[in-house]
Amino acid sequence: MENKNRIPELFGSMVFNENTMKERLPKQIYKDLKKAIANNMTLDLGVANIVANAMKDWALEKGVTHFTHWFQPMTGITAEKHDAFISPTNDGEILMEFSGKELIQGEPDASSFPSGGLRATFEARGYTAWDPSSPAFIKDNVLCIPTVFYSYTGEALDKKTPLLRSMEALNIQALRVLKLFGRDEVSRVSTTVGPEQEYFLIDKKYYDQRLDLMLTGRTLLGAMPPKGQEMDDHYFGNIKTRIAVYMEDLDRELWKVGILAKTKHNEVAPAQHELAPIFNLSNVSTDHNQLTMELMKKVAERHGLVCLLHEKPFEGINGSGKHNNWSLSTNLGENLLEPGKNPEENLQFVTFLCAVIKAVDDYQDLLRISVANAGNDHRLGANEAPPAIVSMYLGAHLNEVLASIENGSNYSSKKEERMELGVDIIPKFAKDTSDRNRTSPFAFTGNKFEFRMLGSTFSISCCNVMLNTSVAESLCQFADELEGKEDFKTSLNSLLKRTIKENKKIIFNGNGYAEEWVVEAEKRGLLNLKTTVDALPHYIKEKNLSLFEKHHIYTKNEIHSRYEILLEEYSKVINIEGLTTVEMVRRQLLPAITSFMKELSDTIISKKAVGLSTSCDMERGILTQVSTLANKLYEEVEKLNTLIGKGVDYADAYENANFFKEQIIPVMEATRLAADSLEGLVGQSYWPLPSYSDLIYRI
Ligand code: ADP
Ligand code: MG
Repeated sequence: MENKNRIPELFGSMVFNENTMKERLPKQIYKDLKKAIANNMTLDLGVANIVANAMKDWALEKGVTHFTHWFQPMTGITAEKHDAFISPTNDGEILMEFSGKELIQGEPDASSFPSGGLRATFEARGYTAWDPSSPAFIKDNVLCIPTVFYSYTGEALDKKTPLLRSMEALNIQALRVLKLFGRDEVSRVSTTVGPEQEYFLIDKKYYDQRLDLMLTGRTLLGAMPPKGQEMDDHYFGNIKTRIAVYMEDLDRELWKVGILAKTKHNEVAPAQHELAPIFNLSNVSTDHNQLTMELMKKVAERHGLVCLLHEKPFEGINGSGKHNNWSLSTNLGENLLEPGKNPEENLQFVTFLCAVIKAVDDYQDLLRISVANAGNDHRLGANEAPPAIVSMYLGAHLNEVLASIENGSNYSSKKEERMELGVDIIPKFAKDTSDRNRTSPFAFTGNKFEFRMLGSTFSISCCNVMLNTSVAESLCQFADELEGKEDFKTSLNSLLKRTIKENKKIIFNGNGYAEEWVVEAEKRGLLNLKTTVDALPHYIKEKNLSLFEKHHIYTKNEIHSRYEILLEEYSKVINIEGLTTVEMVRRQLLPAITSFMKELSDTIISKKAVGLSTSCDMERGILTQVSTLANKLYEEVEKLNTLIGKGVDYADAYENANFFKEQIIPVMEATRLAADSLEGLVGQSYWPLPSYSDLIYRI
């Protein structure tokens, strides 16, 4: 085992990073590559050949034999196809080769990835292209090249392309606004993201006995154990040795591929944990989060564990989410969401803050869509995660600042602290303000926003596309209005006033879990899109189509395809869950229940046969209860089976998804209710499934 003090050497050892590039590339080539990255230019083939060769030599030294273009199709997970470096020579030998062309472009057969009708199968070509802003790395002895994935006609087929486009859109608009502040020295604005990732760990031997976990990632059946999370004794609790060993192993694997894994702790639910990295550029963070999820699962295998990333693995116990911490930073290292030290800086800060407020209000629906899937429907609004209503938390100080701008009044009661533009005086925020509202979906936390509605399985790409694009649009409108104005500060002041007035309905500092908020939000005219099926149709609203088209993020075609893909995915997930429920109930539960009932009946008969004079009240009592519930279970599961067959009748993706939501889910729930009641009555040795206690406590 390597020396523990050598973490700095271990970190990034499997990444073809800055240092490695500098070390291994001729000076001019390194410069050309950096320039191409900085300016988003395609790489000259000559340069690419030299970079590819250096990458290959580096990889060969580490025992690597294959390379792959690593991409993020619409399945939500990553895809790879491995090619060996080998190339035959005339004399029957082989050379290890890797060309510039192989580095910068690939042509995987794309016909089997979801495309929502974008790519007719007769032209099933998809292309992958290197994204040099995200470094190549080695995983499982394979050199992985992070790439984007697009169709023959140039339409995005992945989750990475739109993210890069949205980062660019934001850069363009933010620079326009900064220019108005005379900030000509800033040449680039990037978005930064730090995603906190929750997950469950359970023992593999129990996992292997549960078809539902294997096929759907969550338990479709299972009664609550006598003890859940009510004691609040798991959150930040002492970490069990087996888990601590896993976490240590995971950290090292993450560090090797250059992921800044920083914080780890136990979460609210038993067997639930969290890992947070230090933030990075959004595209790098997106790659890293995908890689983190993959490594979480892989490392678990080595420890006889299974890592569950599903949003709701266990009913009645908190599910898992992901927090997307988001900010804007300039090439000079300045965080644009950091409140400033003087009035000038504060004016700039408040302008960007207002752009975000406006964006979240104007595009609530898009943010909601970015966290919509069948799994997350179990969490949002279920008192364990923010509600399905998007709102923002700013904290008392900032609220006062905004109110004073809106009303043109002094921020402070002290006379000498006159607020010339309403924004002169902003208190320095303590980063750890204790009133951080944990129930808010979108909270300002000192110098960044934290979007907390994501489910744990999500790629963080989509929500960042929505955020970046909608903020780009706010900034664009600001710049359009302010450019060329003679009195910039007066114009800005009235723009900010108006923005606050029009968009403050999105700001809510109270308890987001409370019933009253739902009523209040409705009064304010905020959207409450309870389920995925309610949310998705907003994707194709004209205002959203034109937003994405204006900023060159998605064409109308691309959105329509994504809309279809997400609806289909929803229907498929529920369909698989329904079929799995039927299979488990029919082939595992009903036979087990029958054996148990037979045991009870046999006992009654035997007792009578030997002439016992005591009654059979216990056997009869249990038998009656079990038999009644078993009939109910049978009735529901048959209903479920019949209904599932009908799901395929709908040609329209929305109608189909709605059918699954309205018809299938309630019957699945009724089936579960009967099954879970039976679990509490049927003998443990008869019950064929590991219990919730086994799953969350026996580790
Ligand atoms: P919490 O209290 O929610 O656990 P932390 O303060 O520990 O949050 O930070 C959570 C995440 O926010 C970390 O991943 C951290 O790197 C990230 N973060 C901090 N600053 C920024 C920033 N400027 N941009 C993006 N993410 C950031
Ligand atoms: Mg957080």
